[in-house]
Parts: sequence; C-alpha cells; structure tokens
Amino acid sequence: MTGAAAIGAPEMVLVRYGELALKGKNRGAFEQALVRNIEAATRLIAPVRVERRRGRMAVFGERRVSDVARRLQDVFGIKSLSPAWGCAVAPEAIAELAARVLADALADFPPEGPITFRVASSRAEKRFPLSSMELDRFIAERVLPDHPRLKVRLERPELSLGIDVRPERAYVFVRRLPGPGGLPVSTLGRGMCLLSGGIDSPVAAWLAMKRGCRVAFVSFHSPPYIGERSRKKIRDLVGILARYQPTSRLYVAPFTEVQTTIRDRAPQPYRTVLYRRMMQRIATRLARREKCGALITGESLGQVASQTLENLTCIEAATDLPVLRPLVTFDKEEAIDLARRIGTFEVSTRPEPDCCTVFMPEHPVLRGNLAACEEAEAALEVEVLVDRAVRASEKLEIASDV
Ligand code: ATP
Ligand code: MG
Repeated sequence: MTGAAAIGAPEMVLVRYGELALKGKNRGAFEQALVRNIEAATRLIAPVRVERRRGRMAVFGERRVSDVARRLQDVFGIKSLSPAWGCAVAPEAIAELAARVLADALADFPPEGPITFRVASSRAEKRFPLSSMELDRFIAERVLPDHPRLKVRLERPELSLGIDVRPERAYVFVRRLPGPGGLPVSTLGRGMCLLSGGIDSPVAAWLAMKRGCRVAFVSFHSPPYIGERSRKKIRDLVGILARYQPTSRLYVAPFTEVQTTIRDRAPQPYRTVLYRRMMQRIATRLARREKCGALITGESLGQVASQTLENLTCIEAATDLPVLRPLVTFDKEEAIDLARRIGTFEVSTRPEPDCCTVFMPEHPVLRGNLAACEEAEAALEVEVLVDRAVRASEKLEIASDV
C-alpha cells in the first residue's frame, strides 16, 4: 500500500499569501479578491468554503480536495499551500494522524540520510489541554522513534509538520506546494492585452495578471489572408490564460481593410509601424469600453525591427493610455521559459500565420519618426478605419480550459 492510500484524501487546503505590502484597507480588498478568485478557480471541481485565519486561509472542499490544491497553484496572490488532513481534537488522535501524514511526505525524500525536522503547532482552540509548545513536544516524541533519520532543528528545517487545532477539528499538514505569488487578479484594475499568436504577448498578459491586473484581450485578424485556424489558436491561448483569472473576454478585430489601405497608400518601410499604431488606436477604443486603464503588449526592446526605441515611441504615441510592456527587458529564451511554465508555448509555436506576416515591408524602417507617421496617416482616413474595425469586432467570452 502506498503512503497516499494510507492517509486518504485531504480535507482542507491551507493557503499562505504574501502580506508585506498589505495594510489597512488594502488588506481587506486583497483578501476579498483572493477569496473570490479561489472560489472561481475551483468552481468546476467542487464547491469550496474559504475561512480566513491569521495571515492565512483555509479552503475546505466537499470533495476532490487534491484537485482543488493543484488548481490553487494557478491563483495569483497565493505564495504556497498545503493539503491538510483532519482528525478529532485530541492529542492521541493528532499523533496518530501526524505519523501517517509524515510517513507519506517522507516518500518525497531520498531513501537515506538525515532530514532536519520540526513540529509547528498553532492552537485556535484554547480549551485544548496542551499549549502549542507542549503539543509540539508531545507529537515529536510520538513520531521521532519510528524515524531515526529525522533530526530536530527549529530554524529552517527541511520538513515542518504543521498542526492546526480548531474547535471542531484538528488538521495536520507537511507538504508545501508553491503558488504563483503576485497579487490577486482584479486588485490593480484592468488592462487590454494586444494578443498575437506569438510567444510573447501571452506571457505579457500573464505577467500583468500576476501583478493584479484583470486582462481583456484583443486580437487582430486579416481574413482571407489569415484563416480560421489562426483564430482557433488565439481562442486556445485565451483558454489557457483564463486558468489564471476568473473570466476572460476576447475581441477579434478585423484588420484586413486597415492593412490593405496602408499597403496601398503609405510608404512601404513604415507599414509595420503604421499597422501597430492602428492596432493601438483600435485597442484603446475597446479598452475604454472595457474600463481598462492600460494597454499591454509583448514588445521587448530590440527584439525585431519594429521594437527599436524610436519605433516603440512612434507606436505608443497613437494611444493616450499607458502601454505596459512586461517583457521589455526579456531575452527571447526568458520569454520561452516562462511560456513553457504558463502552458502557452505549445500553442504559440503552432505554425499559423499572423496578420503581421502579410504585406511585410522588405526593408522596414528602424528609426521611425513621428512626423513621418503622421504625414503617411494623413492619406488614410484613420478615424473611419478605426471606427469600422471597432464596430465589426467580435466579442467572445472564454472560459478556462481546465
Ligand atoms: P508576439 O510573440 O507577442 O507576437 P513579437 O515579439 O513577435 O510578439 P511583434 O510581432 O512585433 O512582436 O508584435 C509586437 C506586439 O504587438 C505583440 O507582442 C502584441 O502585443 C502586438 N501584436 C502583434 N500582432 C498582433 C495581432 N495580430 N493582434 C493583436 N496584437 C498583436
Ligand atoms: Mg509576433
């Protein structure tokens, strides 16, 4: 019989969150958002009840608590979490459960060699006969004889056996799973992410979410040059990113007319910069509709010709919203590593065309200047083009794919 079978399913997940920057009102808003996001993330697994403890939260599930724990590893604001097992509020029962939970966790360690260890009890039930320190000692004396490898060390042990004594039940936990850190989505407002089918923009969206932004998406498509499979790719990307926030809205904006007009009327070297300026304008209109206070892009300094400092300056001059570029200092490998971890890499590398790959200039301008952009745009009827694209944008609600 494996250790996991011996302890059965956990009853609760103990959630730890970072609280450094949290004071007064911020703290309440942070905690409320975290509770809401925990409930939303687990809705399809099992109903959960969240209880706040001093600087922590306890998440109780009616069933599938291991799945709930795994799901919580995608909820921003959570620093770490521990599945916990429950028993009667009695020293003997706690010692017996602690021995089993500990044996199960030891399976994670190499088979030989010393492991530093401690018991860390906390006691909300003051009628309990032992103080926290007495309980620590009582449990340690019961479990240590069976595990000569365990060496007690109170400071930063490799293994910490946690015990949480509540009035109705006592809980025991050992394993500590990492959460994604960051701040709960929605605590820092909203952003509109310009989402291409590339590697970078999904990573940029994820990083903005990590810092508490709720993200809506806009993707530009140029049918018939770009087909249904590219649209599906975008929907799949948003489905993956939707694991990390409660709901996701995607606008698919038609871009063919903008591109053909620029192709026909503007100087060729400026095409890419002008496409990007039009994207910013359309995205800004949709952002206002969605109450987004910023645009988010996957741009990174110097990565491609359109991403020189001069060109980025020309591009962002087309919007009055702040443009967040979480990847601005990333190397490509860093973006790829993160895309793998988030789960978007495989979809991003499906070989579908993006609208920017059609009518590419042969020699794109490297140091664009704003006056030249504006001069070229004087021949374009910018507002009419923007208006039509905004009105013809399709709005989709996309649920998490897990
Ligand atoms: P990505 O990997 O995100 O495509 P990239 O490094 O390939 O980025 P570009 O293709 O120059 O860079 O695009 C820069 C940014 O412009 C993208 O990160 C994205 O935010 C936005 N963008 C580009 N194409 C589109 C599109 N078709 N729809 C929406 N946004 C786009
Ligand atoms: Mg791209």
